[in-house]
Order: sequence, then structure tokens, then C-alpha cells
Amino acid sequence: MSPGKRQGKTRLGKQPPRHYFFLNPYQDARFTSCPNCGGKTKQRKLPLVIHLEAPVLLNLNKTCRYCPFCDLLIAHQDELEAHLVGIFLEREPEMIGNDYLVVGTVDRPVWQRGNRGDLSVQEMLDNLHDFKDYLRFEPAPRWAPP
Ligand SMILES: [Zn+2]
Repeated sequence: MSPGKRQGKTRLGKQPPRHYFFLNPYQDARFTSCPNCGGKTKQRKLPLVIHLEAPVLLNLNKTCRYCPFCDLLIAHQDELEAHLVGIFLEREPEMIGNDYLVVGTVDRPVWQRGNRGDLSVQEMLDNLHDFKDYLRFEPAPRWAPP
């Protein structure tokens, strides 16, 4: 799967943007400290909204790393994609491998309504908080033999 690039700066959601977002592609870097400020990140489980090419809007309650100082949310790409595979393997295996983009977050009650299946795409967008921006970081350099 390849995470898509956001087209321009158009906002999808009706709610104010929150959090900076980094989809971490490095399986050997878990960012227990913040790549921006160096502070310790906390674990935060929250509903991510994912747009998949089909198109589908998906609401996934996912544990992320979070730096409260930088308002930086980090989701590990491998974990995220494992969740996506789990969701689609039985239902719609043809979706696996499609482009996707994590578009923002919703509040927990909204996610719970979505889980019960009584949330329309429009309601999801009405409740969606886009990310303030997408960031990228390199993992800290590792020690190596001279
Ligand atoms: Zn930070």
C-alpha cells in the first residue's frame, strides 16, 4: 500500500483542524520520543479517519504516539496497514493494496456511532477534524562501528 499525497490544502471536515500528523514508515523506529522536540511521547488511542480509493471513508480506533508539546500524532504505517488488511481480508479483499490517506480524527462518540453503522459519510465529514498539517521525520541516526 502507498499512503497518498494530499491534494492541495482543501479541508474535508467541517470541524477545526487538530494535530500535526506523521505516518511513520520506519518499522525499526517507534518514536517513543518526539522527533520534533525530543520529549517523551505518550500513547493515545483515538479514532483515525482513513480515506481509501474506492472510495470509502473508514473510521479506525488506533493507538498512536502523541507528543502533547508539539501536538504531533504519530501512527506507525505497518500497524495501520495490518489493521486495514484485517478489516478488508474477509469483506472486500480487492481493497487491500489500494491507495489511502489518513485524513483526520473524530471524537470518540462519533466513532462509536460509526461502529454501530448509523453514521453517514456526510455526518462523518461534518464531524471530521482534518490534521493541521502532515509532517515527515527521519529516525535518529543509529550508533555504528567506526
Ligand atoms: Zn514534541
